Amino acid sequence: MLLPEDAGGDVMESNETTEYDVFSVVARDHATRPRNIGPLAVYNGHYRLTGPCGDTMEFWVNVQDNKVTDASFVTDGCDSSLACGSMATVLAKGVSIEQVIATKPQDILTALAGLPEELEHCAFLANDTLRKACENYIKNAPPEPQPKAEDDGLTQTLAKIKNKIAVFSGKGGVGKSTVAVNLATALALAGHRVGLLDTDIHGPSIPTMLGCEGYPLEADSDGLLPAEVGGLKVMSLGFLLHSPDDAVIWRGPRKMAVIKQFLQDVAWGELDYLIIDSPPGTGDEPLSVCQLIGAMDGAVIVTTPQKVAAVDVRKSISFCRQLQVPVLGIVENMSGYVCPKCGDISHILPAGGGAKIAADMNVPLLGSIPMDPQIAFAGDSGTPYLQQFAESQTAQLMRDLIAPLMENPEND
Ligand code: ADP
Repeated sequence: MLLPEDAGGDVMESNETTEYDVFSVVARDHATRPRNIGPLAVYNGHYRLTGPCGDTMEFWVNVQDNKVTDASFVTDGCDSSLACGSMATVLAKGVSIEQVIATKPQDILTALAGLPEELEHCAFLANDTLRKACENYIKNAPPEPQPKAEDDGLTQTLAKIKNKIAVFSGKGGVGKSTVAVNLATALALAGHRVGLLDTDIHGPSIPTMLGCEGYPLEADSDGLLPAEVGGLKVMSLGFLLHSPDDAVIWRGPRKMAVIKQFLQDVAWGELDYLIIDSPPGTGDEPLSVCQLIGAMDGAVIVTTPQKVAAVDVRKSISFCRQLQVPVLGIVENMSGYVCPKCGDISHILPAGGGAKIAADMNVPLLGSIPMDPQIAFAGDSGTPYLQQFAESQTAQLMRDLIAPLMENPEND
């Protein structure tokens, strides 16, 4: 880990025996000479927390343009609390609020070159209090102005991406993320440079599907580094959440700001395709994704054969048309059932719903994917179905989905 310059550690070892003997040189330095201690005169995020050990910590942060410009703390705790609070503020300064929230107690401990095990809880208290101070800022922050599509940083990032394709569904649970993962995988296997962006804030399932849960967000001079999994560059809002319950802190305009940062600040580099797993439905969140991207190259809409899903898919198509996003086609998921014994596809429910909506609404049907227990297995196992079961009939159906998306000669 690169430490800020004032992270310390340059204190000479002395031969004297002191109460800090159990501390590393860096931890001792921060315990005896804590940085950024005392309340901040100007701050917009604040939190006070008492840990199970009875120690109290209080953090102040000042956030400007999504960066923690200043952070400070006080504690009534012991020397290790001082060391942890001090290091937490040093690590936070000048860093984006999302990165500060993504910081883990282990980062503080690593930066302090460790603490005796019985004192490690101080790093948890410091980390929790600082995170909650940031969340307090987010909760109270004034609504941000609607970002414009011509925003410089965003435009520069998006200019390096040839095709930005969103995967929508009228409702959750129809297999939107499954289709997004396998669509992206099929494009990567066909030799394209592909990114996968998971903007489904309430159920970011891409990290589970690709086995990269808990990916530690890091940045270099080009921006936040996406995870690289199976030939894909992957970024997920899930990388920011410590637990699924954390999603509730991102309200209204803040969600927009987080999604914007993901689009703008991720070091995607040159890409042929960015597949965007959109939040379900036709509400504010998918709307934000489309507005931020500005010129989306196309949308793939996932549905199931059931009637209610068909009603939803009509809404999704109208939504895309209103936003002038070209509908590349419909994928009918869970259409028919693959027999686990013989591999044959049987249609236990009436088939052809996807084809009918596609014809009614005058959009292409990209294909139908059957219900296949191995798809659910692959989703839980962290390796895309298309990689694990490349030889199956269903895998061929998935590969066929991308043919119409690759018709643009610019993509090759
Ligand atoms: P959504 O993104 O629409 O909420 P997911 O892609 O997360 O839906 O899928 C929901 C669940 O259904 C997951 O457990 C996934 O593995 C499973 N699933 C999706 N498509 C299929 C399919 N064709 N056959 C079997 N299981 C599927």
